[in-house]
Amino acid sequence: MKDLLCDQFQNTVSEMLLCHRSILEILAKLQESGARVQRSVVHSVTSCGCQKIMADKRPLPENATLVDLKNLLDSHLSGSLCDDCRDIIENEIGRSLFYLAALCNLLDLNLYDIFLKEHKQLQILREYNMV
Ligand SMILES: [Zn+2]
Repeated sequence: MKDLLCDQFQNTVSEMLLCHRSILEILAKLQESGARVQRSVVHSVTSCGCQKIMADKRPLPENATLVDLKNLLDSHLSGSLCDDCRDIIENEIGRSLFYLAALCNLLDLNLYDIFLKEHKQLQILREYNMV
């Protein structure tokens, strides 16, 4: 059974894309939206300050297992998103999803099928502790 919300989203995107139907336009917009997601995260650190990035090189033992690496490596983030930054980042991710769905539409791909396929691959990797 297909996920209705995902399919409805993809259909709505298709209806909304009257002006930007060119694959070149969609590829450019998808890349731009990805950059805007990154910029909004950086903004939360450099302009708002609700989050901090504290990165340094971590010495890793030569014989570290994948489980050890999970415990040794972190996100380098501290703090938590304020409501404004959360809203901005959610909007940018939403815009990026819009253009991702648009790309799927142009290539006759189903976004939900891609979610399922990727999820299945992640589950296989998880069994081997690869993610
Ligand atoms: Zn903030």
